[in-house]
Amino acid sequence: MAENYDVIVIGAGPGGYVCAIRAAQLGLKTACVEMRETLGGTCLNIGCIPSKALLQSSELFEEANHKFADHGIGVAGLTLDLARMQARRAEVVTANVKGIEFLFRKNKVTWLKGRGRIAGPGQVEVNGETYGAKNIVIATGSESTPLRGVEVDEKRIVTSTGGLELDKVPGHLVVIGGGVIGLELGSVWRRLGAEVTVVEFLDHIVPGTDREVGKTFERILGKQGLKFRLKTKVTAAEKGEDGVTLTLEPAAGGEAETLKADVVLLSIGRRAFADGLGAAEAGVALDERGRVKTDAHYATSVPGIYAIGDVIAGPMLAHKAEEEGVAVAEIIAGQAGHVNYDAIPAVVYTWPEVASVGQTEEQLKEKGVAYKVGKFPFTANGRARAMGDTDGFVKILADAKTDRVLGAHIIGPDAGTLIAELVMAIEFGASSEDVARTCHAHPSLNEAVKEAALAVEGRALHI
Ligand SMILES: Cc1cc2nc3c(=O)[nH]c(=O)nc-3n(C[C@H](O)[C@H](O)[C@H](O)COP(=O)(O)OP(=O)(O)OC[C@H]3O[C@@H](n4cnc5c(N)ncnc54)[C@H](O)[C@@H]3O)c2cc1C
Repeated sequence: MAENYDVIVIGAGPGGYVCAIRAAQLGLKTACVEMRETLGGTCLNIGCIPSKALLQSSELFEEANHKFADHGIGVAGLTLDLARMQARRAEVVTANVKGIEFLFRKNKVTWLKGRGRIAGPGQVEVNGETYGAKNIVIATGSESTPLRGVEVDEKRIVTSTGGLELDKVPGHLVVIGGGVIGLELGSVWRRLGAEVTVVEFLDHIVPGTDREVGKTFERILGKQGLKFRLKTKVTAAEKGEDGVTLTLEPAAGGEAETLKADVVLLSIGRRAFADGLGAAEAGVALDERGRVKTDAHYATSVPGIYAIGDVIAGPMLAHKAEEEGVAVAEIIAGQAGHVNYDAIPAVVYTWPEVASVGQTEEQLKEKGVAYKVGKFPFTANGRARAMGDTDGFVKILADAKTDRVLGAHIIGPDAGTLIAELVMAIEFGASSEDVARTCHAHPSLNEAVKEAALAVEGRALHI
């Protein structure tokens, strides 16, 4: 045995690296295996961070192009240096992944570089060396889901990975899938000048999001220039000299038609990744979707082997993976690690942003829960008016009997930041009245949250 550890985490994404740091903080001798050249996983290298870097840059370009004039600012001769924008994206990623290396050194977590394989109970093999592990945590993440008939080359038919690295603004970008990643990257390239068409199988975008919010979102994105082909499926993609020809069919079946694209972004979702890990061989049970099965304490079917993050069930979100990373490290250390799945926010980082936590109206109706709704539009919020960003609203759902906040949905400026106080409200078991009676600074966007809480009892003040 090369060396023995208390914990070996396989995968250094937000689930794995956070788990490793927390385990080390708790005094456990910890190693983290990562086969990528850099730490940070999908999130830091090819996901959350680079996409947000491009969203930020492209939003500034959009503002300079279309919003500055309103403020009396002229910017004649505005140009786009895409190479610089992309270089900045890469710099942002580098700073972040180097930061994780620093955190590993600081916390004395050993990075075992290479592909990890579970060689047997309590054994992990990396580059031909076998390491002993009292506990193994699988945190191998996810990959883009493929689509039959649409062959990815990461140049003309790209996943989000290639979609983040385009060196030219496509004339026509067709996005397959109207989920979060497709809409964020679709927004980036539209702002930079592409014509963008989103093809979605369902009759609505952002599946799982509160429908009222989803409809408003679709309308706003439509106004910005995104085109939607709903209830439509892509059945084939043929690459030619001058781009890609997609075959589209109505989702319910019917006559096929073609659509030409310069670049196609395939973003129909992500699937658990456990290739080459030796999990199944070690007896670790997977579910029908290839995800590692765990109990409520992240234990797999094999004693001493745990799993967290995108590779297990639940929302595929970096902060969900992080929370699970902390929880499992604490469980391994004999503490009571726990994640409250009712209080996990989800954000779409377009502009306006869409953010939600807890139950949607559709879910409450399905469960037969009696609820009250409080809503407040940003058109009636002074700060939003000063910013010139009045699209959207805050919506709070509270239990009809107890007034406990059950869900919150925001579409509007900085919704991803605003949602935090409602995540906290749910975490603390707050009532809508608790939020309504809390003093909020003026003039702030957060006042729209307070007003929505007041509106639950029909006593909003500024509308
Ligand atoms: C374009 C895009 C944008 C996104 N934006 C957001 C966002 O804004 N907010 C958000 O919350 N989420 C976002 N996500 C999702 C987020 O990235 C994932 O939910 C998160 O990264 C999952 O973390 P994880 O630790 O489970 O796995 P991952 O981040 O996928 O990390 C797993 C790591 O394990 C490594 N690995 C796999 N197998 C082995 C092995 N056998 N040996 C060694 N190493 C191995 C992989 O190389 C990888 O680095 C985005 C994803 C994408 C693609």
